[in-house]
Amino acid sequence: MENASPQITRRKTRSVKVRDLIIGSAGPISVQSMCATKTQDIPATLNQVSMLVDHGADVIRIAVDSRKDVEALAEIRKATSARIVVDLQESYKLAEKVAPFVDKIRYNPGHLHHHEKNVPVAEKVRFLVQTAKTHNLALRIGVNFGSLDPSQRAENDDPMEAALHSATQHIGYLEDLGFQNYVVSLKSSDPNDVIDINRKFAERHPEVPLHLGVTEAGMLPMGEIKSRVAFENLLAQGIGDTVRVSLTLPFDKKYEEVIIGKKIIADIYAGRFRSVPRFEHSGLNIISCPSCSRVENEKFVELAQQVRELAQFAAKEQITIAVMGCRVNGPGETDDADLGLWCAPSHVNLKRKSELLGQFGYDEILPRVKQELEQIIAAKHGASTTA
Ligand code: SF4
Repeated sequence: MENASPQITRRKTRSVKVRDLIIGSAGPISVQSMCATKTQDIPATLNQVSMLVDHGADVIRIAVDSRKDVEALAEIRKATSARIVVDLQESYKLAEKVAPFVDKIRYNPGHLHHHEKNVPVAEKVRFLVQTAKTHNLALRIGVNFGSLDPSQRAENDDPMEAALHSATQHIGYLEDLGFQNYVVSLKSSDPNDVIDINRKFAERHPEVPLHLGVTEAGMLPMGEIKSRVAFENLLAQGIGDTVRVSLTLPFDKKYEEVIIGKKIIADIYAGRFRSVPRFEHSGLNIISCPSCSRVENEKFVELAQQVRELAQFAAKEQITIAVMGCRVNGPGETDDADLGLWCAPSHVNLKRKSELLGQFGYDEILPRVKQELEQIIAAKHGASTTA
C-alpha cells in the first residue's frame, strides 16, 4: 500500500530491510500482526498466517519459547513465504535457533536481565547482533512500559525517561557494533504515553524507523479507538513506519487487527480523521492482551469479555482492570491497574494494585472480581467524601 498525502511529510529515516520489505520513510507504512494459535499446532498456525497475509499483513509475529516451538517454526517456514518475526522473551540464546527460519527478531531490553545474570547485557546484545548479521535479519528493540529494564527504572523516576534511556542505550550497543538494520518500538497501554514517547524519540533519533503500537489496547471498540488516537497523533505528523494494532479477539478473527490497521493508515492519509490531541481517559478502562501462543487457557478471550460485562456497573468510575493471557507478561503488565488478572492453565491469578489476592478457578473468578470492584468503589467514595 502506498502512502501519499500532500498534508503529511514522513520523517526521513533509514531503510530497514525485512527481507524484501523496507521499513522506513522510503517504503510504505507496513502493518504487522501476530498469530494467536499454539505454535506447535502447525496446521492451525499456518492457517492463521495465511489468513493474516490474505488480509494484508506485511510481517507476522509468532511466539517461540521452546525447542519444540523451534521445530514447529522450521516446518512453518517451509510452508509459507510470509515474513516472520519472532519475539524473544527471556532466553536471548534462542535467537540462534530461530534465526534460520525468520526475517526479523524482536527483543525487549527489559527481558535481558533475567537469564545469565553474570553476562553483561552488552554481551547479550552482541550475540543477538552477530546472529542477525549472520542470517541477514532485522532487529526490533521493543521497549515496553510494562517491562522496563530494572536498571533504567532505578535511575529514572519517570517511566517515560526510563523507556527513552533504555532505547537509546540499546541503539548505542547496536551502532557500536556497526549494525543499523533495526527499528525501535516504545509501547504502553496508555495511548497518551505512546504519543508522547514516540514524539520525543523521533526528535532525539530522527533517523531510526519506528514501529508504533498501543500494547494491550483490548477489545473492540475501545481497542481500535485507543490505537486510532495514538496513530492519528503520530502518523499525521509523519512519525511511524510500521504499525501493529493489538486487539483482544477470538483467534479466528485476528485478521481484524490487520484490517483496522490498514484502515487507520488509509483514513489518516486521506485526511479522514478528527484532530483529537489526546486520548480522553473517562470512566472504566479495561486493558487486555491480544493473546498469542503463550496464552495459558483458551477461555482467556471469553474471560476478558465477561470481566468487561460484569464491570459495567462501574462504567463511570476511573478504574483500570487488566486482563492478561499468561504469566510471561501478566504480573508486570498488571502493575499499574487497580485490578489485574492473568491466566494459568486451571486458575486465574488476581491482584489488587501490587497485592496478590490469590488464585481462583475459572468458575470462581468473576464473583471475586465483582466483590473487589465494589470494595474499590466504596473506598474511593468514602475517601472523597471525607477529603
Ligand atoms: S500476555 Fe501472554 S498471552 Fe497475552 S499476548 Fe502477551 S505473551 Fe501472549
